Amino acid sequence: MVCIVATMLSVALVALKFGMRDRAEARASLPGPVVSTPAPLPNGAKPEVSTTPTASSTPLPGPAQRPAQRPAKAPTAPTDPASFGVLVNKDRALNPTSYVPKDLTKVNGEEIRSDAGAALRQLIKAADKAGHQLTLRSGYRSAAYQQQLHERYAAEDGEAEADRKSARPGHSEHQTGLGADVTSSDHPELDQDFGSTAAGKWMAQHATEYGFIVRFPQGKESVTGYMWEPWHLRYLGKDLAADFVASGAATLEEYYGVD
Ligand SMILES: [Zn+2]
Repeated sequence: MVCIVATMLSVALVALKFGMRDRAEARASLPGPVVSTPAPLPNGAKPEVSTTPTASSTPLPGPAQRPAQRPAKAPTAPTDPASFGVLVNKDRALNPTSYVPKDLTKVNGEEIRSDAGAALRQLIKAADKAGHQLTLRSGYRSAAYQQQLHERYAAEDGEAEADRKSARPGHSEHQTGLGADVTSSDHPELDQDFGSTAAGKWMAQHATEYGFIVRFPQGKESVTGYMWEPWHLRYLGKDLAADFVASGAATLEEYYGVD
């Protein structure tokens, strides 16, 4: 046994020695830095490259082989401000920033886009049957109004805090006419405690059935740029909302792979 191992070892050493010599000769015989046309090698030695795996036998991890950064099925965020899927946040402004929706209707005296309003009426009706009186507190807000609101918050709490709880003009979901601040008669305030009420929980659970999502969920401020807003719904339409749920994403940024 020892003999066999010793023999194998010596064969390996010899092979290694010759291999090293061949490589040294291969390098020495090559005409300078030009390696594209290797010259014939002495002693029938093969060029180094012939013993290394080729690209065809072992694919190297080039850009094409690397896993994509986002799933292939992740949709591209539409930029049309009138699209139900439009992505607007602190980094993405509406284009144009002066955008005004053309199909506003009223729910609870507040303006909201027509389809979103119809869906919201259904949501409110279903909530009522479940014992929760929901009301739209704020829907469409113009760029000018958003400017005033942000300036007021900034004057009260400073710019940084104002940015946490309100968008700048052109950056608000409310300007799309698809954002809806909704709370209940039991808890009309737009604060995080609403999320702990029975009505707030019901709304979070059922919103997607009507084409809405809670746009700024708990624990996602680093992604959305906004603190948890259990009262702020965003209309996506039923199809997109269903796809959003199926994707497992918690935010629109994650859904579109742009977080
Ligand atoms: Zn809101």
